[in-house]
Amino acid sequence: MSQKLAVIAVRALFGAMLTVAVAAQAQAVGDQVPQQTTRVPETSVPVSANAYQNQGPPGPSECRGCFPVTPAGQGPNQEAGLPQAVPQQGGSAAAGAHPPRVGPPPTEPNSLPYDLLLQNGHVIDAKNNIDAVMDVGIKDGKIAAVSQHLDAKDAAKTIDATGYYVTPGLVDIHTHDYASTGEARSYAGDWGIWPDGFTFRTGVTTVCDAGSSGWRNFEDFKEHVIDREQTRVLAFINIVGAGMRGVRFEDNLDDMQMVPTGYMALRYPDTIIGVKSAHFTGPEWEPYIQAVGAGNIAHIPVMIDYGANRIERPLYDLLTKYLRPGDIYTHTYSGLRGEQDVMTLGPSKALIEGRKRGIYFDAGTGGGSFRFRVAVPLIKAGFLPDSLSTDLHADSMNSSTKDMLNVMSKFMAMGLTLQQVVADTTWHPAREIQRPELGNLSVGATADVAVLSEEHGKFGFLDMDNTKMMGDTRVICELTIRAGKVVYDLNGISMDAWNDEHPSSNPQMANHWTVFRPRPPLPEQITPRQPVTQQ
Ligand SMILES: [Zn+2]
Repeated sequence: MSQKLAVIAVRALFGAMLTVAVAAQAQAVGDQVPQQTTRVPETSVPVSANAYQNQGPPGPSECRGCFPVTPAGQGPNQEAGLPQAVPQQGGSAAAGAHPPRVGPPPTEPNSLPYDLLLQNGHVIDAKNNIDAVMDVGIKDGKIAAVSQHLDAKDAAKTIDATGYYVTPGLVDIHTHDYASTGEARSYAGDWGIWPDGFTFRTGVTTVCDAGSSGWRNFEDFKEHVIDREQTRVLAFINIVGAGMRGVRFEDNLDDMQMVPTGYMALRYPDTIIGVKSAHFTGPEWEPYIQAVGAGNIAHIPVMIDYGANRIERPLYDLLTKYLRPGDIYTHTYSGLRGEQDVMTLGPSKALIEGRKRGIYFDAGTGGGSFRFRVAVPLIKAGFLPDSLSTDLHADSMNSSTKDMLNVMSKFMAMGLTLQQVVADTTWHPAREIQRPELGNLSVGATADVAVLSEEHGKFGFLDMDNTKMMGDTRVICELTIRAGKVVYDLNGISMDAWNDEHPSSNPQMANHWTVFRPRPPLPEQITPRQPVTQQ
């Protein structure tokens, strides 16, 4: 009996000790959580866009969103008997100079005039007024020649582009690419897309992020997305310091400051090509005054998504008084803010006067910014877009917009020609963002090139009201070249047939014109591997 009591007493004592130990541990864990003793207004907190994430382990890559990797043999997986992550040898030590994911080995120099020759394609180059079958020669990442006949002997590689259109790489000036932060329900987060996954397959070689980040988090965006993509990623910086993170942030007038915004743009003139104001729901003019002010500091245009339709700030005043010639009005065909005249159904007086003053009108079709019942009468009345853009993000990529080629095809269904939609996705947007070196095939320009084709049949194109228009042409991207190298090839027009005995170009020259692996040496390709023999 007494022995049993003693056992119970010992158990109770043990239990109490355990409780104390657990409590102490909880206290210790609690101590590690930053105490929020003083409450500061949320928008005045320095925002890195990773505000809701834990600080990651310090490391050469400073990857705050990355899962911490524990060296083999030390992690919790070891104790649990699970497979462990093995750190790569010297991998992230060279952060910033990360090796290409695919690509041929170093090769011999090319003494020929061209690395790559696109032969017999129908070139559409609005800047240079070319709309004819031409050859395009590329050397060292630049356009070297555009002429009626260039000799295949002068090129390391020739691609037959007969029957295809050869255009400058497409420029999409309205996308959302700040996908890295992990923030839910945010354009500075989960609603953003990683450019490389969406661009090259549609002929796009340059995107402009339309205000997903502001001056507080632009550098985080640059480090985690812009500098890591093969796509050229430029940015409109949001006039809201915290960027595009929802109405709490985007309606906060106190965080709209022209000076830090303008100075951040001056600090990164190669990347920041404009200022964005978007989604504002208040009655004030302040966001537009601040955005234009920042634009004046950095000598760059502003792009306006006009937010909620407010009687206190009519579209007419925005386009005739507040914006400057050369500023960009996006979502032109939404009809949400007075773009359409209620009587004629054509363009409103605001749009007509705005265009007269030199405001640019961009499509930015997005998830909820394009409807046929606005676009068709406006286009019929002659109010064509100055540029076509997608407003690509996690919603629009799967709903009515889909991608740049779909937007182009949609506008062709409404009567525009291929030449017009190519101009509206190359030279015209390049001019709007004041980057005349882009969107054209002038000799000396960076060799960003799209090879397109037309598919004919019955196709449906959608709008934000879930209505459709049928069309008979769909634009397809066959091949994309970024800085002189093939980065996408839908049907292998740059490649030899698998059973061709001899390569059509020297595999040792391949890395002058493609990022893909060259053909292996012939013996390796045709000799069956010897079975491994046991010794
Ligand atoms: Zn947008």
